[in-house]
This record gives sequence, structure tokens and C-alpha cells, in this order.
Amino acid sequence: MKNRFLLLLLLLIIPITGYSQADLDYYLPDDVEFDPAIPTPEEVIGHQVGEWHVTHDKLVSYMYAIAEASDRVTIEEYAKSYEDRPLLILTITSPENHAQIDEIKDNQLALTEPNQSGDVDIENQPVVVNLGNSIHGNEPSGSNSSMLSAYYFAAAQGERIEEILDDAVILLDPSFNPDGLNRFSSWVNMHKSITTTTDPTDREYNERWPSGRTNHYWFDLNRDWMPVQHPESRGRIAKFHEWRPNILTDHHEMGSNSTFFFQPGIPSRTHPLTPQLNQDLTGQIAEFHAEALDEIQSLYYSEESFDDFYYGKGSTYPDLFGTIGILFEQASSRGHAQETDHGVLEFPFTIRNQFTTALSTVDAAVALRTDLHEYRIDYYRDVREEASDADTKAFVIGDPYDRGRNYHFADLLSKHNVDMYELSEDLEVNGQEFKRGSAWVIPTDQAEYKFIEAMFETRTEFTDSLFYDVSSWTLPFAFNLPYAELDGGDFDNDLLGNRVENPELPSGEIIGGESHYAYIFSWDEYYAPRTLYRLQDKGVRTKVIQKPTTVETPDGSVEFDYGSIVVALGTQDVDADEIYSTLQTAAEEDGVNIYNVTSGLSVSGVDLGSPSIETLEKPEIAILVGSGISSYDVGEAWHQFDQRYKIPITMIEKDEFGSVDLDRYNTIIMSDGGYGDLSENSISELKEWIRNDGVLILQEGAVEWGISQDLVSLTAKEDSGRFDFSDDLDYVDLSNARGAQYIGGTIFNATLDTTHPLGYGYNDEEIYVFRRGTQFYDQPENHFSVPVSLTDDPLASGYISDYNLELIRNTPSIVVDRHGGGRIISFVDNPNFRAFWFGQNKLFANAIFFGRTIYWASTN
Ligand SMILES: [Zn+2]
Repeated sequence: MKNRFLLLLLLLIIPITGYSQADLDYYLPDDVEFDPAIPTPEEVIGHQVGEWHVTHDKLVSYMYAIAEASDRVTIEEYAKSYEDRPLLILTITSPENHAQIDEIKDNQLALTEPNQSGDVDIENQPVVVNLGNSIHGNEPSGSNSSMLSAYYFAAAQGERIEEILDDAVILLDPSFNPDGLNRFSSWVNMHKSITTTTDPTDREYNERWPSGRTNHYWFDLNRDWMPVQHPESRGRIAKFHEWRPNILTDHHEMGSNSTFFFQPGIPSRTHPLTPQLNQDLTGQIAEFHAEALDEIQSLYYSEESFDDFYYGKGSTYPDLFGTIGILFEQASSRGHAQETDHGVLEFPFTIRNQFTTALSTVDAAVALRTDLHEYRIDYYRDVREEASDADTKAFVIGDPYDRGRNYHFADLLSKHNVDMYELSEDLEVNGQEFKRGSAWVIPTDQAEYKFIEAMFETRTEFTDSLFYDVSSWTLPFAFNLPYAELDGGDFDNDLLGNRVENPELPSGEIIGGESHYAYIFSWDEYYAPRTLYRLQDKGVRTKVIQKPTTVETPDGSVEFDYGSIVVALGTQDVDADEIYSTLQTAAEEDGVNIYNVTSGLSVSGVDLGSPSIETLEKPEIAILVGSGISSYDVGEAWHQFDQRYKIPITMIEKDEFGSVDLDRYNTIIMSDGGYGDLSENSISELKEWIRNDGVLILQEGAVEWGISQDLVSLTAKEDSGRFDFSDDLDYVDLSNARGAQYIGGTIFNATLDTTHPLGYGYNDEEIYVFRRGTQFYDQPENHFSVPVSLTDDPLASGYISDYNLELIRNTPSIVVDRHGGGRIISFVDNPNFRAFWFGQNKLFANAIFFGRTIYWASTN
């Protein structure tokens, strides 16, 4: 009664004191007493939940304070973000369960092993619920609600909470994306007025570029659960496999005029590898959310949006591991209070819905506890049965020329609990050769068979033609790694060498020791660009060979292919000792083998003084950033250069481009985006810069801009982007029909000219490209200007409509143009997609390092 009165008082107070003022009672159930020894959020962070957007450091302080005060809570830092912020997980359960937490954890793992799961007493095994928040930093109601969850589970008193804590272990992750959360909280807090402006046009509600959605390098962390290329995901996935929660929640926000969404998503779009029972359980859990939201009079819906298809998302990844992943989407106040179709949407309201559904999830988990355990047991038993029935007994995969991509592939799989082994002996399958030392074997008869299947499968038939995200991610294609399926006849256990535990990039070496004449290294290694840049950055003169050569080394004659790099000692200003020590570091850290060449006279092929060996320029790179440009694409390039190649890259605001002296740069990147607002002055300066030997790299949408400026010799296909809707299509079906013509992310077969500078470092003319969007181009007349083209039968994996499949055949993927002394290199497809398309990255590096060595191309 008392609380009801307070609530009434509160409702009266709100309009007087402004928005975003809610008492703790507004959020908490009104029939529960709280332990006064447990600090409330306000007592630690200095303001009420929802009054300000919590900054990450305050969130961390509160979580440590709760852990300190409560014997129900322990806390652990499991990773650091790029900006050095801690990622935390709170383990919340009864003190009795804490006393045997290792046993509970061991039992969770045993439930995934059919030969152990029968030993677990599931009647007494607590259910494990992982509550995950705000992986998109500008969807902050989840993180802000996590303080209420922590407070509630630590401080609530009475029989009901005792029961819950006996039956459940709650893993509370307050912030999946600390850097994004902090970026966003700074934005909205710095624009907050005392007299709240609810006008959606106000600056508070219109975050500038780049938004807080993403992490430090502007990656969407909710696409990285499978690729695991970022520290936030790597730590999180390790925790997931340590605990094997029965339920994992993923609290998001969506458009401000919407209501609240919880899964199940659109049933026809569930990935076929996910069992129906997973969706049925999600539906049973949903009933608890509905009841709880009814109670607080919140509107909601399910099954009409979003899906469980791409396994790189937080609500879908768990489905491959016998866990139920649940997506929540709350209408976003995107600030403190803004006008919407449903009245003024206040931040506290959004927080309350998230908190309420966190509680309903735990209630559901407790009620369905044994069902969830049984589901897990059955799931893994079925997987093992399917695995032993499968025709494919193992995959063998690996590139004999590239340690880097092999390592990154092994690293990715090992993060997902996959059993893999070094290939114990050389193996030939269907004419393909795999070498001991540069290939892995992944037997399918193992617990994570489903995950392996999902990573290797090529799927071109679908029950639905719409996808919330990409429709394909086939890993061997993304890594461009040779692989083969081994059937019962090909496979035997003797092929399994050492088990791969924590793969590391192997070191290379300087073969033949210190040279008095020259060094040479192949461009095949993934990290060869890093080695080249190390040398260039020291002022070492470097050359690239454009025709193969076989040279003499102390170990005999060795053949070097297109793109190999030569360091001739007689032409250097840098001390020979310094060059040698730089190369030693490079060999060790970049996994590159470097050869001592004893003579300039080749055994066969070109000599080292040949005109076919061209001097390289050190890249000085700028990239345009700002409104209208894809922060994802820019971030991918930035991450690639900064984290992997250790090459500095200057970001220039598009608005300020006209006032920058471009002479400092020899390479400029224009990522996917719109450039129609570049000033005339900027454009004429850019064209002048290109004519003076500049290399301009255009990606996706920027290619259109290049065409509009007569810099790119492409024409869009006449029917590109058009759709062939039938005349009897009903109005209500138009939206889906349009969606079915979109390419959300599909993999295509392409051919590559390995003698072209953009093809250096590749040994096979077959390559895969990743396509989003539906802009298709005709082939230019000069076919030497097209080093990469889609094939006549291009669909490799994923969805494309029949209409678009006809249009996309034989279209160009990369096109080179000349303009004065400069080059324009157009990437129709993204070579750096989500940092796991390792097979394409070299194309991008080639544009940077070898772009100005391309002579044959269309001239504009
Ligand atoms: Zn989101």
C-alpha cells in the first residue's frame, strides 16, 4: 500500500521536476523487502538509475560494491576492451551454491557429454542464466537495468528469492560493450538539460558519427560471436564455454516509436540446424515475459520481427550449444526523454522493461529448470548420433603457403570448443594436397559437430527469402583456405597429430643467415605486408618482383613467385645490421621466412637488377571519415592496418577534406558511403592529387561516386536494382517481395588474375567474394582492368533471388582505372568484412602497396 502511494506521488511529481526522475520503487516489485546492508545504486554512483546515463566507470564501481557487500555475489573481470575498460561478470546464487560452484560448473559441462550426462542429478542441478546487456552501446537500457538486477538479486529478502537463488546461478554481464556504452553515455549526458527537451530533433537524440553502437574500431560486436576477432567477444565466448548457461539473454533497443520485442523471432527464418524444441522452449519462456509486462502495462510483441539465422549474433550463437538464446528489443529513448507515437518515452521506462524481463527470464528458468537440462542432454545426444551417422568423417584444411591464415582459422575454431588436430602426414584427397605442418584435421565425431557443420556448410536453398543479417558465412571460403571432406574411406585416426589447444602464429626464420647481397621473401604469408612496412618505415628500399625468379641461397636454389619482396643491400642508406635485426624481428613476429640471396644472377627467371623488379613507395594512407560514410567499413580498414599490419592511417573528416594538404599522402581510401556533399574544391584537389601519382581506393558505394566523377570506367547494369514483381502481388506482400530482392550477405565464386599486382600472394585463380547490396556493373571493355570477376556460375553459398542471379553473372568485382599518373582501384565487394574475411585482406593490402605498379588499365 505504502509503495502504491509513493508511486502515485511520483507520478504527480514527474511533470513538475522534469523527466527521467524515478524513485527506486518505480522499478522494483512492490511486495519485496530489501536488505539495508546492500548499497542501492544511488548510494554508490551518486544518482538514481535512469536520472543520468550511467558511465561505464560508475557501473563498474557499483558492481564491485555489490560483490563486496553480498555473500550471494562474486565478481570477475574476464576481459579488457580496446580502451582498457574491464568486462565483468557477476556470479549470483545462494551462499550454499557458491560453496560448491565448481561442481555446479562441472555438471553443466557434463550435461554436454552423453557418456557423463546420466551421472548428473538434474533434479538438484541449478539452472544457469547468463544475463547480457547492451552489446550495442547506444542501446543502454540493458546496462542501466543491470544495476537493478544486481541490487535485486543481492538485496531482496524472503522465501521466493531464496528459492530462486537455490535453483539458479545468475551470470550477470552488465556491459558487453564498455567502449560503446561510454561513448554514448558521454553524448547524452553532455546534452542533458535541467528542463528536459523532449523534441526528437534535439541534439541529445541525434548522436553524431560514429555512434556508440559499436566498439573502439567501430565493429558491431553483436556480429562477432562467431568470428571472435575482438577482445570483448573473445573473453565472453571463453566464459560461455566455461559455464554453458542454459539461457543467455541479449538486451537491445530498437526504434523509438516501437514497443518491446522478445523472441521467438520470425519462425520461418530460424536456421535449419537449430532444433524446433529450442524455439518451443523460447516460446514457453516468452509466456513469463508476457505476464510480467502485462503486470506493468507495457506493450510488446514477438514472432513478427528479427530471426535466429546468423550464428554470429548473441541470441542465435547459443542455439548451437544446447543453450536458449533470447533477444530483447526495447523502444529506445536514445537519451533521457523523447516524444514518440506512444507519448514521451522516458529513459526509466525503458530500463524498467529490461529489468522486468531479466526477472521474468530467471523466473522462467527456475520453472523450466529440469526441462532446460533435459533439452541440453537430448540436444548433445542427438548431435552425437547425427555425427556418427554423417558421411563426412573429418575436414582437412590448410594452406601450405600461409601460416597466418592457417593460424587465424585454428584460433577461431579453438575458441568454440572444437576439437582439432595437426595433420600427422602429407595427404592427397581428390587431387588436393595437404602438408603435414600446414593443415588441420577436424573430426566430425565430436560434441561440437553442429558448430562445425554450421561453419563448413554451403547452403543455397532456403525456406524464407528474407534475412535479418547475412545469409552465409562459410568459413573455408571466407579464409580462402583449401579444404576437403574426408569420408569413411579417406579418414582414419592415424591422421590425427597433436591436439590443437591454444594456437599461436608460428615464427618464420631467416634462411641462410645474414646476407652480404640481398634478402627476399614471398608475399604469400598473411603478415608479409607487416614485414614490408617494417622495412619501409625504417627507410629501407624495397622492391617487388613482377615475374617469377629462382635465386641462389646458401640452402640451394629457391623459386619466388609474383609479389615477392627484395631488399638489395647495395642500394641502402640504412645500416646492414639494422636491416638484419629488423628482418629477425619480422621473421619471429610475422611468421615470414626470409631468404639470404647470395647473388643477383638468377638460376632461372629474372635477375635481381631486372626492370621487372620495381621499387616500392612506403604507403602514406589517409581515409575519409564522417557523416554519410560507413563507420563499419572505415573501422574494418582501421582495425586491419592498426591491429594487424601496424601501419598508421590518418582519418580525415569529409567536411574538412578541402582544406587538407593532400601531398603528404600517396594513398587515399574512400569507404562505402555517400560523397555527393564533397565540395567542388575538394573534388578538383583530389583529381589533381590523383593525376600526380596518387592511388585512390574506392569501396562499394564510393564506386558509384567515382563513376559520377568520370574516374571509374564502369556502367551499372540496366536492370540493376530493379525488381520483377508479378502483377497479382497483394499490397500486404510488397514489403517481403522487395526484401527478397536484397542481398544481405552472400558468397560468390570469382576468378583472380594471379599475375596482376592485385593478385600477388595468391596461388589459385579461384577466389570467393562477399557481396551485400544489388549494384551490378557491366564488364569494362578493357579486361586487363578487371583483376577479379565473378564467374559464369557464381553462387557459392547464401541467398540470391533468381532475378539477381541472372544479373550478377560475370560481373566485375575489382576494377582499376588510370587518371593521369594515378590509379583508381574500385572494390565492388568489401575485402575486410567483419575482420574474418582473411582470404580477401591481401587484395586490399595489394591495392595499398602495389597500386602504383599497375600499368595496364582503362584510362580516364
Ligand atoms: Zn542492438
